[in-house]
Amino acid sequence: MKPIDILLVEDNPGDAELAKEALEESKVNNNLHIVGDGEQAMDFLYMRGPFQDKPRPDLILLDLNLPRKDGREVLAEIKNDANLKRIPVVILTSSKAEEDIVKTYDLHANCYISKPLNFDRFVEVVKSIESFWLSIVVLPKETE
Ligand SMILES: [Mg+2]
Repeated sequence: MKPIDILLVEDNPGDAELAKEALEESKVNNNLHIVGDGEQAMDFLYMRGPFQDKPRPDLILLDLNLPRKDGREVLAEIKNDANLKRIPVVILTSSKAEEDIVKTYDLHANCYISKPLNFDRFVEVVKSIESFWLSIVVLPKETE
């Protein structure tokens, strides 16, 4: 089976490492791609510059507070693009602000998750995201 490509947009290396470990333990064959800011996320999605050979991700895990281009802007650009908008975007952020929750759903985020502070719980959450979005949900076939 073709591995699932996941794009993680996360500027905190500790959180990125934890997510990576959680996904390595998972049952689904996946390739995790990590970028550290919003500009790189858009370059990855449009296969620009160093990301020319990268695949279209099947799932995007997006932090909100990011350098260079904010996660909210990244989300808006993805959901305004006729091709990219079908990729599910899971907001994974330390923010619990009601304003962020409302705003990101208004921007068509597929779901909003507040990052657990506890490490074990964080790993559990990443595994749940993965099993739900990649094993249970039926996603549209890739279109170009
Ligand atoms: Mg951040």
